[in-house]
Amino acid sequence: MKLKTLEITGFKSFAERTKIEFMPGITGVIGPNGSGKSNIIEAIRWVMGEQSAKGLRGDKMADVIFGGTTQRAPLNRAEVAITFDNTDHYLHSEYSEITITRRLYRNGDSNYQINGVNVRLKDVYELFMDSGLGRESFSIISQGRVESIFSEKPIERRSIIEDVAGVYKYKQNKDKAKKE
Ligand code: ATP
Ligand code: MG
Repeated sequence: MKLKTLEITGFKSFAERTKIEFMPGITGVIGPNGSGKSNIIEAIRWVMGEQSAKGLRGDKMADVIFGGTTQRAPLNRAEVAITFDNTDHYLHSEYSEITITRRLYRNGDSNYQINGVNVRLKDVYELFMDSGLGRESFSIISQGRVESIFSEKPIERRSIIEDVAGVYKYKQNKDKAKKE
């Protein structure tokens, strides 16, 4: 499974549709302060289902929508699409290429799609569950996170380890079965 492309439109500082193609190997992003490097990582977390506006350095979720500059009017919609090569079916899906799209409008309307089909947030989570990816995973480590992992309570640290080890999904199913 590989990250292929990321398309960002109207998200934070990316007013114009911006497409990033990831080549084999390591990708580095360089640029001056405030040029949008962290916004790229936030776009990835957002499209994978991030629910915390604060976690995206905002007060409310609509803050991710391009808010305008002196030269450019604000936009009404933020859209991010991420595409994975899934030929090894590492993600639990029959598709060998998977595109997840998330949109948010200023009036609060929002939606998620997997390969162009409307889905629930739950479906997006399930796709990444136990993959080591996902919004809370170790695959994205922001500044300060390393320290917080070590200072977290044992029970929280355990849930991180369980997610990485791939047992989280079974626990969720168990909890669900218990309730039923
Ligand atoms: P640094 O090197 O300092 O970490 P960076 O390249 O990571 O910088 P970001 O934090 O990604 O920069 O980008 C910050 C910029 O994004 C700021 O100029 C901010 O005004 C802009 N920005 C954030 N949210 C929005 C928004 N909703 N609309 C327009 N611009 C936004
Ligand atoms: Mg930054």
